[in-house]
Amino acid sequence: MRYDTEFATAIPLRQPYSQPRESLLTLFSEQSLAAYHQGMQRCVDQVRRTLDRNRRPNSGVEPGELQPAFDAIDLDRPLENLESSLEEVQRLYLDHAVHFHDSRYVAHLNCPITLPSILAEAIATPLNTAVETWDQSAGATLIEQKLIDWTTARIGLGDAADGVFTSGGTQSNLMALMIARDHACAAMPGHAGNRHHGLPDNFRQLRILTSDVSHFSVQKAAALMGLGYDAVIPVPTDAEQRLDAEALETILAECDRDGRVPFALVATAGTTDFGSIDPLPRLAAICQSRGLWLHVDAAYGGGLLLSRRYRHWLAGIEQADSVGVDFHKTFFQPVSCSACLVRDRTHLRYVTYHADYLNPRDQADEGTPDLVNKSLQTTRRFDALKLWMTLRMQGADQLGRYLETVIDLTRETYRTLTARDDFEVLTAPALSTLVFRYTPAGVEADADIEAVNRDIRQALSRQGEAVIAATRVAGRLYLKFTLLNPLTQAEDLARLIERIAEYGAARATDFASGASASPALARQTP
Ligand SMILES: *Cc1c(COP(=O)(O)O)cnc(C)c1O
Repeated sequence: MRYDTEFATAIPLRQPYSQPRESLLTLFSEQSLAAYHQGMQRCVDQVRRTLDRNRRPNSGVEPGELQPAFDAIDLDRPLENLESSLEEVQRLYLDHAVHFHDSRYVAHLNCPITLPSILAEAIATPLNTAVETWDQSAGATLIEQKLIDWTTARIGLGDAADGVFTSGGTQSNLMALMIARDHACAAMPGHAGNRHHGLPDNFRQLRILTSDVSHFSVQKAAALMGLGYDAVIPVPTDAEQRLDAEALETILAECDRDGRVPFALVATAGTTDFGSIDPLPRLAAICQSRGLWLHVDAAYGGGLLLSRRYRHWLAGIEQADSVGVDFHKTFFQPVSCSACLVRDRTHLRYVTYHADYLNPRDQADEGTPDLVNKSLQTTRRFDALKLWMTLRMQGADQLGRYLETVIDLTRETYRTLTARDDFEVLTAPALSTLVFRYTPAGVEADADIEAVNRDIRQALSRQGEAVIAATRVAGRLYLKFTLLNPLTQAEDLARLIERIAEYGAARATDFASGASASPALARQTP
């Protein structure tokens, strides 16, 4: 198979030094520092050679092609040495790894990452610091806390704000909604609180409001919280894919009439598909007037906090009761690195449990900063060091400029697409996504247009030419660019658009000649 012959052998397993197997068969300690250092260097070299030689965004491999190599491996029979292990990792993983740093990777919200953040991983991983309690982490806890305080200050949440690092926007949404639910239920007469007694009798009336293009993790959180997907009311959006405040007011009035109990509104600052930002000031006013918890999911748009030019797009976020920010998206940090922030730190008590063996109450009373007291997780990676070293070396302004660059790039690419008559672009870009489809003259039926676009995407991926996303809007399949690479040039994307049109035009002739049942391009190509 192509990837076997071409790639596994393309990287000669040069052996500049052959590390004795035994030297690495041990644990990290002061005894093994030499082996650790040598082994690290060898792995860094491997990554370097992979990137030097493998200049494509992906390999195009399919699961069925890679699976046999895995079937042949017996995990109970270790390999000879580091070289054999690296050769295997190369074949199974590195040869096919998707390169988020490649300008032709434009699929999901994955970013190229800062160099200081990678160096931070090289420090935090060997020491294996876990940040749940002070006695396991010392300075690491204070590094995380200072970054939390910095983030809440950037948002403008006020002096009583606090928060904690999370695994991502999904966990932040769950955490914020749990806190909102427990806070609402704590005020219900005759109910002593969810933490001790579970949900109140009227739990089937509880409702979460969020726009119909918000992230699926809101539904998932509702299910995990015992409320079910049906507890989430999708609020219609306007033409710019922002939550429609009028529609929200109507739904709230209906809830009142029907005895439903809405307890939280999840506004999105940067929807995953469109980058659209809900009208935060207006929504904050509605929430305030009704005592409704406002959670702002800024997993994607959070990076605007660092942009001098576009920070004002987030106006109103400072009025939120809670905010989720994914540093591993628009702060250019490695996965995972994220935070959930709350306006009133006392609300974090809803996720606190004191265990005598870990974080006894008297320890908290004495003022010991045990981060586990405000986290859904217990053992937790020291993900804060990445952002810390990035800020201390590059500074926040540079991160803000990265995001500005991709926003500007998106606008330019939007102009390129709209200047052509063979593409339909759904909306003007808000942040850095473009949702569009190839609509050649002569292909009219929606099903045919869909087939053409699906095949374009498959063909590009199969050839290792580009990785682009797809989504569905109002039942129609669209292609999607998510641009998060500030090093990408407008010309790179113009070339990609040209390739999309070429594949699309070739596929469109299949329809014109009545051959719509012919095999997809993806499978025709060698
Ligand atoms: C990515 C994203 C999430 C989920 O974040 P993870 O870090 O993947 O868990 C939530 N909300 C929005 C708007 C997102 O774009």
